[in-house]
Order: sequence, then C-alpha cells, then structure tokens
Amino acid sequence: MPDEGDLDSSEERPPPKSGALDEFLISMNSEISEIQKVRDVYPMRVTKHFLSLIKEKDDPIWRQCIPSIEELRDVNTPDPLMEERDTKVPYLVHRYPDRVLLLVSSRCAMYCRFCTRKRKVGRIDEIPMNDIMRAIDYIREHKEIRDVLISGGDPFMRSDKNLEKILSAIRSIDHVEIIRIGTRMPVVYPARITLRLVNMLKKYHPLYINIHFEHPREIDEACSNALSLLADAGIPLGSQSVLLRGVNDNPVVLKELFQKLVKNRVKPYYLYLCDPSQGVEHFRTTVQEALEIFKKIQGWTTGLCVPHLVIDSPGGGGKIPVLPAYIKEINDERVILVNYEGKEFEYRNP
Ligand SMILES: *Cc1c(COP(=O)(O)O)cnc(C)c1O
Ligand code: SF4
Repeated sequence: MPDEGDLDSSEERPPPKSGALDEFLISMNSEISEIQKVRDVYPMRVTKHFLSLIKEKDDPIWRQCIPSIEELRDVNTPDPLMEERDTKVPYLVHRYPDRVLLLVSSRCAMYCRFCTRKRKVGRIDEIPMNDIMRAIDYIREHKEIRDVLISGGDPFMRSDKNLEKILSAIRSIDHVEIIRIGTRMPVVYPARITLRLVNMLKKYHPLYINIHFEHPREIDEACSNALSLLADAGIPLGSQSVLLRGVNDNPVVLKELFQKLVKNRVKPYYLYLCDPSQGVEHFRTTVQEALEIFKKIQGWTTGLCVPHLVIDSPGGGGKIPVLPAYIKEINDERVILVNYEGKEFEYRNP
C-alpha cells in the first residue's frame, strides 16, 4: 500500500485507505461485527489522515467516519431531495433556472456516515467520462446555464488529466460564467491538493471551490497548507457544513469552526440541516435546535463568519434559508426588530 505522500495524481487511482484501520478498530474496542453489518450495506473508507484526527472513541471525528448500527435502523427514503426527478441527462441535476449540478465522480476518499447521497456514493461504478461529456453537451445546448457546480462523490477523486478535460470542456462554453467545485479533499486527504493540481485549476478562472467541514479539529496544519495553496491560486474558497448531532450541534464548536475557516481564507457559505436521507436519522437535530445555535453565532462574531442556515427541502424545492425571528412586527408605519441580544428596536418606514 502506497503512502499518502506518494499519490501520483496524473493516474486515476484512489488515495490509499488506512491499512491500519482494522488494527485501529480492534485497539479501540469497537463492535467489529456491527461495523461489518453496516459495511455490507454502506461502504466504509477512512483515510489515514482523518483517522489521525480521532482522539477517542465516539468523538466528533469518529462519528463522522466509523459506521454505527443506527445506520441500519432508520426508515427514511433514499432520495428525499428528489435529485433523480431533476436529473435531465445522467449525472446532471437541473433544478434552478440558471445553474446546474454536475456529478463527476461516485467515489470519495472517505465515506462520511451522514452523507446525503448515501444511496449512491461508493456503491455504484465510477462515472464514465463519456457520460460526463454528454452532460456537458446539455450545458452547451442550454444558454440559460451560467453557473456549473461540479460535485459527486468527490471531483478530486478524478485524475488531474480527467479533471482538466472536464474543466476545459465547460470553459469552452461561452454562456458559462462561473465554475464551482464541491469537495472534501482538503479535510480528508490534504495531500491530494498539490501545486500541480492548483496550477491546472487556476487556468479555468473564475473558479470557486466549496469545501465541506464539520469540526474545528479538521483544520490541522496539513489542511491549512492545502487551503493556502488553493487560496494563493486566487481561488475564492467557501465552506459548507451539516449540523450533526454529536458532532457539531453546539454554538461554541461551530463558532470556532467558522472563525478558523475565515482565518484560513475560507468564507462559511452554508450550514445545512441534516437531510432526512436513508441511514442518517441518528445525526439529525430539530429546526428549533438549529435556530437556537444560529442565534448564538449571528451577531456574536464577525459577520463574515456567519453562513446561511438552510434546509434543502424534501420534495425537491431547493435550498430554503431559515432565520430566527429578527422581525417581530411589521406594518406600513414601522418594523420592530430584535437584535442578537434579544433587545427590540424600531425602524420607521418612510
Ligand atoms: C445546491 C445546489 C445548487 C447550487 O445552489 P447555490 O444556492 O447556488 O449554491 C445547484 N443545483 C442543485 C441541484 C443544488 O442542490
Ligand atoms: S465527501 Fe461528501 S459526497 Fe463524499 S461521502 Fe462525504 S459527504 Fe458524501
């Protein structure tokens, strides 16, 4: 098994799994037979890097990557967001008027236990390049598409060569203004972010990268260096996080995460309520809890550190922002506003 540092990203091969995983699980006294039962249904894969962030059993890092028997107990539907309904050609979701989601890999360096695309990710064959090129033809034929969001799985599971094929094909379309990539690689496998990769990426500006973070401990030195490489290439960085029970459902933890992100030139973009997808029920929090947490962040720290709190609506309605009741009363004459401390203020309408 190659070491993480040896990855030749010009080849299409996945980063190494932690060879020491079984040993590790045994040393931690894990319920190996339960883990195996879950693995038979939902794949398990953890990088050596992410494993090294675990401090103890059931901590916020552990819960993200080590299977729990709860995954098999839940009765949610596989695709509550109805992505299949909005799939116009294979691997392309066209839901909003001016932008599309293009899936370019079915794999990830690590399989997050709370993944909303658990029905697919890691369970189907890698997406054929021909299908991706056909999906890009759809983008070419639809002049209203000005924003292409590349996701998966993790797009950085593709080789630099295949990624460049995808990016240059999209860039050759005049009406596409911006390209965005969604990834978790700087967190789970920071060695994948090489100078060679960023030098290729920066040829396709304006390119944005959105990175999935859940906990402040994920931003260690290796991750921080990967973020610097990306930011130094002029790539605006954003984050998305999911509010997860037992991982980050705590305003102190989240505020620290968002502050640490801004320090690393990453703008917190979305904080999602956990989707009611199959196998993730034990991670969900209530909307009331989410609002209480959000209220303890907004106004209490730099505005740049505050993401939009959103629910990706079941039934395929897209992302809907949810906000605490900052407007207490509104009529033609005036508005009664409530600030972050709960104090009331009046704004007179003109
Ligand atoms: C999230 C998402 C987008 C991008 O949404 P933004 O709010 O513009 O970031 C586009 N298409 C689909 C299907 C999505 O789920
Ligand atoms: S990196 Fe993203 S797509 Fe991959 S398993 Fe984690 S949440 Fe799912």
